[in-house]
Amino acid sequence: MAKSLIVVGAGVFGVSSALAWRRRYPDASVTLIDPKPLNDKNPDGNWIVPTSEDTGKIIRTAYASSSYTELAKEAIEMWEVEEPYLKYWRKSGWVVPEKIEAGSLNKGTDMSRERFFEVFPNALLEDDEVLKEDKSPGWVEASAALAETIQTAIREGVNYVPGEAAGLLWNVGTCIGVKLGDGTEFTADFVVLAMGCWTKDFLQQAGVTSHGVNFEVAGITVVGIQLNEREYEQYKDMPMIAIPEKGEILPPTRDGVIKTNNAISFHAPDLSSRKIPLILPDNHPYFEENIAMLARFFPGLQHAPIAFRRYCFDAFTPKQDFIISALPGYEGLHVATGGSFHGWKFLPNIGNYVADMLEGKLAADWVDKWAIGAKMSAEFIHPDIIPKRSADLTIQE
Ligand SMILES: Cc1cc2nc3c(=O)[nH]c(=O)nc-3n(C[C@H](O)[C@H](O)[C@H](O)COP(=O)(O)OP(=O)(O)OC[C@H]3O[C@@H](n4cnc5c(N)ncnc54)[C@H](O)[C@@H]3O)c2cc1C
Repeated sequence: MAKSLIVVGAGVFGVSSALAWRRRYPDASVTLIDPKPLNDKNPDGNWIVPTSEDTGKIIRTAYASSSYTELAKEAIEMWEVEEPYLKYWRKSGWVVPEKIEAGSLNKGTDMSRERFFEVFPNALLEDDEVLKEDKSPGWVEASAALAETIQTAIREGVNYVPGEAAGLLWNVGTCIGVKLGDGTEFTADFVVLAMGCWTKDFLQQAGVTSHGVNFEVAGITVVGIQLNEREYEQYKDMPMIAIPEKGEILPPTRDGVIKTNNAISFHAPDLSSRKIPLILPDNHPYFEENIAMLARFFPGLQHAPIAFRRYCFDAFTPKQDFIISALPGYEGLHVATGGSFHGWKFLPNIGNYVADMLEGKLAADWVDKWAIGAKMSAEFIHPDIIPKRSADLTIQE
């Protein structure tokens, strides 16, 4: 009989894991628990938006590690052909205005200034900047794609429970299930915690030693501007812009929002208080950095209203490897987290690796990188985005 599974957390790691297990074992009972309503557009200010929820995420293969490049290629093959992913995949390519060494970004081929200005009229380029174009990266409307993947999982038999896990259930030293805040209990052969930034706090609260779950919470600021219909038509087919050591600008979503990621990431405070502000103040220097990127490439859009401005956090591991592992000393209990600012693209395939881990079949190369207590990658795998400063976050009461 197929082993049953509970996954706590419906971000990319959790959703991908639940769906992969159900597809591998169509008779298995699979429960996916998360308090967020699907397609929540109005989050409570004290409940920060989960990392996987976003207008857009970048899908690309440029990594400093060939293992992750191959993993990303595998994901892209699925984005390009499989439902429900295919519908959301936008192969926009990107352009890199490059003065300094462009880190691990794929440098691509030269793009003329004339062509660049056709797409980005009046953009400000410095005399010594060159433009590199790569047509292979793409992007995805993240929240919409994730919501549809959750719906796919539900259709395929995953039991989606909108609730908040409050503790774990034990039979002597074996984890046998999860208890919700309202007292409801679920039991299964395997429990996978895919709670992103909240994973460590939850383990601590559940009385589980979490020394091996080695990540810090780090943040990025994101700002979106709202285009009108004419502006949307003008920019809808633009490539992404990847600005070395500064951030990225994504093309407009179908409802006309252009997003900037401020890639000068920061060490974030503990999230356990649940009082981390959601909204990035419009007088904060990080906000100014996001706006400066937009002003440089879209000087004609300075009037565009701000669609959102917020902090976004991820579980950042020492070398940006994921943590996909059993918890040593706690039979039945597993962790799938540590997205480290690059985990989203793996929505279609990371669950297969979580399933392999549950069955003890994970390839040795990945065990070396992802298992608790493993040696990890030798170098940062996505070095452009390592936290370099500490945020001055104002706590909202
Ligand atoms: C600004 C920003 C931009 C990024 N851009 C990219 C990109 O372009 N491309 C890319 O590949 N990656 C990108 N990333 C990284 C990627 O978004 C993350 O690695 C990934 O989303 C992490 O997913 P997760 O499932 O680990 O966490 P989350 O999405 O945070 O999911 C955790 C889930 O656990 C739930 N949860 C928490 N507590 C409980 C509880 N007690 N009970 C039940 N559920 C609970 C939460 O509600 C949440 O839904 C970016 C990250 C950031 C911050």
